[in-house]
Amino acid sequence: MNFLEERICKDGVVKEGNVLKVDSFLNHQMDIELFEKIGEEFKRRFSEEKIDKILTIESSGIGIACIVARYFNVPVVFAKKAKSINIDGDMYIAEVESFTHKCKNQVIVSKKFLNEGENVLIIDDFMANGCAMQGLISIVNEAGASVEGIGIVIEKGFQAGGKIIRNLGYKLESLAIVDGMNAETGEIQFREQ
Ligand code: 5GP
Repeated sequence: MNFLEERICKDGVVKEGNVLKVDSFLNHQMDIELFEKIGEEFKRRFSEEKIDKILTIESSGIGIACIVARYFNVPVVFAKKAKSINIDGDMYIAEVESFTHKCKNQVIVSKKFLNEGENVLIIDDFMANGCAMQGLISIVNEAGASVEGIGIVIEKGFQAGGKIIRNLGYKLESLAIVDGMNAETGEIQFREQ
């Protein structure tokens, strides 16, 4: 088991509806020492890629992306979620369905902060069905930038996102892949990597 899988076993809570709660260390209270290890590990896994910018999505991705960015020495841009907005031509927009909140959001990035030709590493806390990721990818493509890699802290391997994104040909690295979890027993199975 790697450092993250160990922490998930220790402090993660399996909820009904295929939700893994990790709010004591990842997406509410944040363990920055753990984030440092996450940053170091993404840097190792994407050491061959030239990265100009990190892109994530609010809100849980932001803290992680900021620490990861220290290892790549690049800025972080986060996509903002907006319910329904007056959009002017200065924004890239994608429609994203939220797994946790069961609603649709528009996610937006200002055109000022994503430029043609930039090499982008996308970072997020979770991948479930991959909707958030497909939105971010479409924004990068619209900007004429390039997705050099995708780093996910926890992938739920029993949901479709990972497969869809890998089939599209992207280099997707997930630090922990959960292949099964049981809300009654609290048991979590990880994919061997
Ligand atoms: P997707 O778009 O891949 O279906 O869902 C990704 C987003 O939903 C992530 O950014 C994350 O915020 C949230 N999410 C999905 N599944 C879980 C889960 O099991 N636990 C938590 N804490 N968040 C999740």
